[in-house]
Amino acid sequence: MQIGMMNNPRNDLVGEIDLIASHDFDFIDLTLEYPRSGIDVIDKKAVLAKLKESGLGVIGHTTYYLPFASPIDTIRVAAINEVIGTLKFFKEAGAGMVTVHPDSGVGPVDTRTAASLNALSFKVICDEAAKIGLSIVMENVPGPFSSVEPLKTVLKAVPALSFHLDVGHAFVGRNRFRQLLAAFKDKLQHVHLSDNRFRGDDHMPLGAGNIDWTEVIGAIKKTGYDSTFTLEVFSNDKRYVVGSRDKLKELWRSAS
Ligand SMILES: [Zn+2]
Repeated sequence: MQIGMMNNPRNDLVGEIDLIASHDFDFIDLTLEYPRSGIDVIDKKAVLAKLKESGLGVIGHTTYYLPFASPIDTIRVAAINEVIGTLKFFKEAGAGMVTVHPDSGVGPVDTRTAASLNALSFKVICDEAAKIGLSIVMENVPGPFSSVEPLKTVLKAVPALSFHLDVGHAFVGRNRFRQLLAAFKDKLQHVHLSDNRFRGDDHMPLGAGNIDWTEVIGAIKKTGYDSTFTLEVFSNDKRYVVGSRDKLKELWRSAS
């Protein structure tokens, strides 16, 4: 297994890379997001140089609130282009995989329609990514796209798209962890881990919330998945993410 950490997009990206490398993570889950890590505001040259110096692996992560399921064509196209505009940089940074998030849609767009519109958007993104040797993974998010059916619709329509399981998201509102893992274990390419109390996406350290981590890690290991895990534990005190890594390693070792 490889364990990574995400940069905080509110902080300077070069400083975040230093911080993540100094805590000996295997990779950075490189999120290019407003306000301080957007593709248009970062010093690309400095970021690439720092990544090289750090030796960190890279997984790409894009803004989680893009309107991929907007019924208005120009808005959907703008969302698609926003992601496409980051792909070359992710590739240069050393990424092989980039996460996108499905959009629930607005107003009269029901979940079924949103799934079709997301599929249209992700098809274009996957095609562009494939041209430069990148693969795209779709993350389950709280709301309708934490359920198996709409995610399945998108994954079926876009065979090049793989699945990114966010365990924290799978527990918000209702426990869908087992269903998601069972449905998409063959498409699983990346995992995000954080704890919560089942009401909101709290991004707590593992063990601080209500998720049964022995069960979760055991179930993931049982599928044969042994690849990248990002600890999405958000705190200015990095001892919480480092402690979560210790816990994850311990659980992984003791899982059968
Ligand atoms: Zn996530």
